[in-house]
Amino acid sequence: MTGIGQHRTCQEPVLDVERIRRDFPILQQDINGHPLVYLDNAASYQRPRQVIEAISHYYERDHANVHRGVHTLSHRATEAQERGREAARRLLNARSTREIIFTRGTTEAINLVAASLGQSLHPGDEILISHLEHHSNLVPWQLVCERTGARLVVVPIDERGELRLDEYHRLLGTRTRLVAMAHVSNALGTVNPVEEIIATARAHRVPVLIDGAQAIAHQAVDVQALACDFYAFSGHKMCGPTGIGILYGREEWLEKLPPYQGGGDMILSVSFSGTVYNDLPYRFEAGTPHVAGAVGLAAAIEYLEDLGLAGIERHETRLLAYATEAIAALPGVRIIGEARRKAGVLSFTIEGIHPHDLGTVLDHQGVAIRTGHHCAMPVMEHFGLAGTARASFAFYNTVAEIDRLVAGIGTAMRMLGA
Ligand code: PMP
Repeated sequence: MTGIGQHRTCQEPVLDVERIRRDFPILQQDINGHPLVYLDNAASYQRPRQVIEAISHYYERDHANVHRGVHTLSHRATEAQERGREAARRLLNARSTREIIFTRGTTEAINLVAASLGQSLHPGDEILISHLEHHSNLVPWQLVCERTGARLVVVPIDERGELRLDEYHRLLGTRTRLVAMAHVSNALGTVNPVEEIIATARAHRVPVLIDGAQAIAHQAVDVQALACDFYAFSGHKMCGPTGIGILYGREEWLEKLPPYQGGGDMILSVSFSGTVYNDLPYRFEAGTPHVAGAVGLAAAIEYLEDLGLAGIERHETRLLAYATEAIAALPGVRIIGEARRKAGVLSFTIEGIHPHDLGTVLDHQGVAIRTGHHCAMPVMEHFGLAGTARASFAFYNTVAEIDRLVAGIGTAMRMLGA
């Protein structure tokens, strides 16, 4: 598979989307009598054949438990697992695989930091988040605050759905113990100015966790250049399997944090008088890991690397611009989230049509979008809404598919009388 470089202009490689689409078996089907148009990528990506085959191959030839066995299959499984770790290190440009922790996904990665770092929080300490967070980067901090007496401080967003940086600077203070913010908002598509967020926090010696769930498949991420302390993402939002994700943690931080869960693999020795914890990264990985997940993650990362994240970002930027213009031109449409920097997500409402009804009519035409609050209820509240319709784009989507979405919305408007 190459998918890239089939059509080249002077500088810009262009994705060969038709060729890429042939890698995705799931996209080759009809839904309700129409060719599938899958525009729910912010919820979960689809998987290319290369990922599916890597997982099958692993189960057909290499599976055993990792780390503990002397036999060949255990060695192979261990190597496969560690290849996944190295692939994630490469993707994030982390300094070392010691900084790469396998988790079940973004949610668990954030909960790990919350549980672990939370142990050193005291009443009056503050955790700084933003108004556009997914519940996964909100509720874990609420739980920590309940347990410790720390306070959750929320940086507001403006009417475009952009972070109020002036408020961020004001709210970041001597009591702030952690800044936890999304790289890209799943509900609005807003790309947060993470460089500035991180640089400001670092100047105050405050660690920063970035929720990268919506950024990881859309743009290149370099944790060393960003200089963040933690970065979390999920495999299933970048063509990998569900049930696997990554927490990047700067080594100095991971060395300081207490273990998250106890069990096998996170220890060096155990006795009733005391337990010696394992080295990084295993200290944070209790129990048998999701080896097939790591295998699939490695294959997904290789796939994205092969396409090139710069080309992916360009393609999606074009799709987003095209879709925004076409949908905004429809009568009664309100675009929700008009940040100057956006990625992959178009949220909107239509006067007189409930988002769920729109989603259902679109599904009858084979077009999959998401409707509702997108696990970001405070964002919906900010805009005075119960929910939106959300189309979200991946590198395998086409302009023709957006035309199908727009035509489908037209049908819904006629059927539902808007
Ligand atoms: N953060 C953001 C911004 C997300 O979009 C999501 C998933 N919608 C999550 C966190 C949680 O990811 P997961 O469910 O894969 O743990």
